Amino acid sequence: MPPPVFRFAPSPNGYLHLGHAFSALLNFDLARQTGGRFLLRIEDIDSARCRPEFEVTMRDDLSWLGITWEEPVRRQSEHFALYQDAVEQLEQAGLLYPAFESRAEISRLVAKASASGLWPRDPDGAPLYPGTPLPPAEREELMSSGAPYALRLDMDAARARAGELVWQEEGTGPGGETGTVTARPEAWGDVILARKDTPTSYHLSVVIDDALQGVTDVVRGRDLFWATSVHRLLQRLLGLPEPVYRHHSLILDAAGQKLSKSSASVALRELRAAGETPQDIRRMVGLALP
Ligand code: GLU
Repeated sequence: MPPPVFRFAPSPNGYLHLGHAFSALLNFDLARQTGGRFLLRIEDIDSARCRPEFEVTMRDDLSWLGITWEEPVRRQSEHFALYQDAVEQLEQAGLLYPAFESRAEISRLVAKASASGLWPRDPDGAPLYPGTPLPPAEREELMSSGAPYALRLDMDAARARAGELVWQEEGTGPGGETGTVTARPEAWGDVILARKDTPTSYHLSVVIDDALQGVTDVVRGRDLFWATSVHRLLQRLLGLPEPVYRHHSLILDAAGQKLSKSSASVALRELRAAGETPQDIRRMVGLALP
């Protein structure tokens, strides 16, 4: 049996905090305990928010924690052409359509739809896409006029193509789900998989990279539990292998809120500057000392 492959996949759009430390250390510990490999992947497709200096600080914080990883590190912004191939594959299968509404137009449509009853929301609490695909002639016209658009997955068509999907969960979901979990991608509606100017999305890049890097064990925060439904769907549609998943608890702040990259008090660099040691960080996130 080849060794298991784990990964930590941060986005360099801020400083790492205690929650990242927990996720990275857990992946690294599991790789060590199982004789597995540990990879670092930089998820930097959002060029407006990601900055190289955050990546430098992340590497520095991870090294300080005692984590080592294989080089070269995969950086998603260097692989847009590959993601584009997958977009074309899904387009050719008739599973994507361009949607031209701005955010403001979407909000208006949601408000209108909500007037006649509650409009459904996705597992993250955002309203589902309220639009419908345009007739082909209208699409063509807007595309050739240079209008910006998002490529959305036709969720009904995608589900019909993929059939029933489950995943193996070694951790737990927000409602205590564990073991064989039934995927519910329809809960996300017609998700965006690419945009005119960015030929990919979090969902698409993550499944392609996990497959390409041979990741066998996806260990990540519980906030991404239900995103796994979309990931399983894309894996099936693109013919990619299925890793096992372990969603772990989130480190919360004193008010019980999920930590964010803007909460400076828990940024690793601040804790370091305040004299905490890597052992202190392990203790703070509830991990045994190595
Ligand atoms: N890049 C994602 C994040 O920083 C994590 C992706 C994943 O682990 O699947 O939240």
